[in-house]
Amino acid sequence: MIALKGAAVSAKIKEDVERLLAGLHGRIPKLAIVRVGERPDDLSYERGALKKMESFGLQAESFAFPENITDEAFKKEFKAINLNKDIDGILLLRPLPKQINETDIEHIIDPCKDLDGISPENIAKVFAGDDTGFAPCTAEAVIEVLKANDIALSGKRVAVVGRSMVVGRPLSMLLLKEHATVTICHTRTENLEETCRQAQILVAAAGRAKMINASFAGEGAVVIDVGINVDKDGKLCGDVDFDSLEGTASMATPVPGGVGAVTTAVLARHLVMAALAK
Ligand code: NAP
Repeated sequence: MIALKGAAVSAKIKEDVERLLAGLHGRIPKLAIVRVGERPDDLSYERGALKKMESFGLQAESFAFPENITDEAFKKEFKAINLNKDIDGILLLRPLPKQINETDIEHIIDPCKDLDGISPENIAKVFAGDDTGFAPCTAEAVIEVLKANDIALSGKRVAVVGRSMVVGRPLSMLLLKEHATVTICHTRTENLEETCRQAQILVAAAGRAKMINASFAGEGAVVIDVGINVDKDGKLCGDVDFDSLEGTASMATPVPGGVGAVTTAVLARHLVMAALAK
């Protein structure tokens, strides 16, 4: 089984970023990372994104607010970031604490700065197959991994486990745009293992540590693991039991070192695209 490493895909995206940067004639785009509270997974994503922007030669600044910030105060701060002309794009770490109305923020964010596709305008474009907006970075990262490894999508049976608005649904739409035949699975799906086994490409985005094992993978399947979880021993792991696929799947992404590294590279490319469109 071939391990599909995210680093190689990220390096290809870095070449795109360098090419696009040339069009900015020396201006360096700036990302704002907006975080409320100190959730470990937010902090880890923020560190990864900051590191990636630096390694791609881009600017980034974190805007962190206390966990108990009021809805009103956060909206005021967020609007200021949104209007700040020095900021080309925004990454909002979610979910937000309960007192903040996340839907309002989705409507407030300028679609041109909405690098992770949370605004209704960008989401609608993803569902319409219109690629002039920004798709959620993780969903786009999955497509990048498949394309960079020359895995054909047109006409292929793809099963996506997960139907969230962050990953499963937008990814299914991006796959459909590539002419894949997509089955979207979730907790009510009957015969989940059998449905997954039928797929030539299986994407796991359920958020369940190592739930996908060899009994879900058809002979020669390509398995993409979007999950970021912590296992019983406190170690980072995906939704896929990678080692169990040996002898069944043809290729699979590891966790860590798979889709995650590509997600921040896609974010960097979105940032430069936003700066170019200004
Ligand atoms: P989420 O909002 O919790 O959604 C999980 C989805 O998986 C739901 O649609 C749920 O079905 C489905 N599901 C859960 N358990 C299942 C099961 N046993 N069988 C079938 N379907 C099941 O999670 P998310 O935000 O989409 O994230 C999914 C995973 O991706 C998480 O591990 C997250 O950390 C990771 N993630 C990774 C990146 C990255 O850059 N790599 C970025 C974002 C998220 P129902 O709708 O029926 O409840």
